[in-house]
Amino acid sequence: MVLMTKPKPFELAPLPYDEGALAPVISSKTMCLHHGKHHKAYVDQLNKLVEGTEFAGMELQDVVRGSFKKTKAEAIFNNAAQAWNHTFFWSCLTPRGAKPNGPLLHALERDLGGYDEFTEAFAKQGAAQFGSGWVWLVADHGRLAIERTHDAVTPMAEGKICLLAIDVWEHAYYLDYQNRRPDFLKAVTEKVLNWDFATENFERSA
Ligand code: FE
Repeated sequence: MVLMTKPKPFELAPLPYDEGALAPVISSKTMCLHHGKHHKAYVDQLNKLVEGTEFAGMELQDVVRGSFKKTKAEAIFNNAAQAWNHTFFWSCLTPRGAKPNGPLLHALERDLGGYDEFTEAFAKQGAAQFGSGWVWLVADHGRLAIERTHDAVTPMAEGKICLLAIDVWEHAYYLDYQNRRPDFLKAVTEKVLNWDFATENFERSA
């Protein structure tokens, strides 16, 4: 007799801090909706879409990479990538925002002109993304770079190491900043970026 075990579903991980912890930069109401509704919807949708496919039971990261640029798996990619991107994004934020130091700071100076230059360019690139998407700090073959992606696209799918990201979909900021995306980006970049998390990712890229 063959016992069929159902593949483990993808789960919505809890936020790594209270919903109100990032206020006033990001309000509790925005976090509640963004995590509890938007992020949850990607995870729920992904679970429905992978049922009975080769992607059921795989690690989320492998689903993202395996479905990237596959026309037949477009919906799976979009939901898997958004599920991954959002979990990554929550870790990029912290109520105890500090500044980078050590080897990561040196790499920022070498590749992007320094910390102040980075914060300015990061916020600017996020504001320049047309429509929905993300702005990323990535390590690619040992060099740091700022990248923009549209919709669900993630540099992780291409094998780059993501250090930091900010969600620039309207749902990320509209309740708090309305159409002022640049103000949202400036506040997040200067006040609540988690440089300890960025450092961990950077060390993994070495
Ligand atoms: Fe989002």
